[in-house]
This record gives sequence, C-alpha cells and structure tokens, in this order.
Amino acid sequence: MKTLTVSVVTPNGPVLEGDYEMIVAKAETGEIGILPNHIPLVAPLSIAAIRLKNGNDQRQLAVNGGVMEVSSNKVTILAQSAEKPEDIDEKRAREAKERAERRIQSKQDDIDYLRAELALKRAINRLDVLSK
Ligand code: ATP
Repeated sequence: MKTLTVSVVTPNGPVLEGDYEMIVAKAETGEIGILPNHIPLVAPLSIAAIRLKNGNDQRQLAVNGGVMEVSSNKVTILAQSAEKPEDIDEKRAREAKERAERRIQSKQDDIDYLRAELALKRAINRLDVLSK
C-alpha cells in the first residue's frame, strides 16, 4: 500500500513524523482527505483534529491552525501548536475552556472577545481529541 510521509512541526519542534495511508484535515474551506498521489496543495487549517489512518489504525492530533502543504507524497503541517492525545493535559484544557467561557460572557471589548473565542476553540479541540 502506498503511503504519505506526514510531518507535523510547531515552533517547539516536531510533534509527529510517520507514514500513513490517509490523512484527513480540516481546512478553512472544509474537510480535506489526502491520499497518496494527491496533487500539490497548500491550505490554511482550522483549529481542529487531524486524523491519520493506517489500515484499521486511526490516530488523531489536536492541531491549532497553521498550514498544510502536500507535495510528492509528503504532507507537512506547520502549526502554532499541536498535541498527540497522550500529551494533552485534560485539567489544563478544562480550565482554559472555563476561563474562555467566562471571558466571552463578560465581553469586555472586541479584541478580548476574539481572543477568548480562539482560546475556547483550542480547548474544545483538545478535549474532543481526548474523548476519542
Ligand atoms: P493555556 O491557556 O492552557 O496555555 P492555550 O490554548 O493558550 O492554553 P497554546 O497557546 O495553544 O495554549 O499553546 C501553548 C503551548 O502549550 C503549546 O506548546 C501547546 O502544545 C501547549 N498546551 C496548551 N494547552 C495544553 C494542554 N491542555 N495539554 C498539553 N499541552 C498544552
């Protein structure tokens, strides 16, 4: 079976590198499934999980935005942050979610509101990846 070499890199260093049969990511325009021999592509990503598949094995990664580049069966994701489920601190994500919800409710100004919304998305994404 042909595979794609996937690498996920953040400012803190590489998070994952491996060969997979399929990767499903959420671009800003919608979900994209990448199989071997996909045409070259560059797409901005949403704050969402990426799914990596090898036969019946499936793993997820919580990815905080960034960009995905596909070329010659290599998929590179450059993200502000990305975590494997086993590296996610559930308590920290729950606290971040509650903090963001409180900030959204107290709506101080537009910039704070936007930041809180993004923080809420990151926390929900981490909790979603943990629950799967
Ligand atoms: P917090 O408010 O808890 O810092 P955040 O969403 O603002 O959350 P980020 O700016 O996305 O955090 O990430 C900063 C760094 O902390 C990154 O290296 C990220 O991987 C890590 N990180 C953030 N939240 C968690 C978590 N719940 N579990 C593990 N690592 C986390």
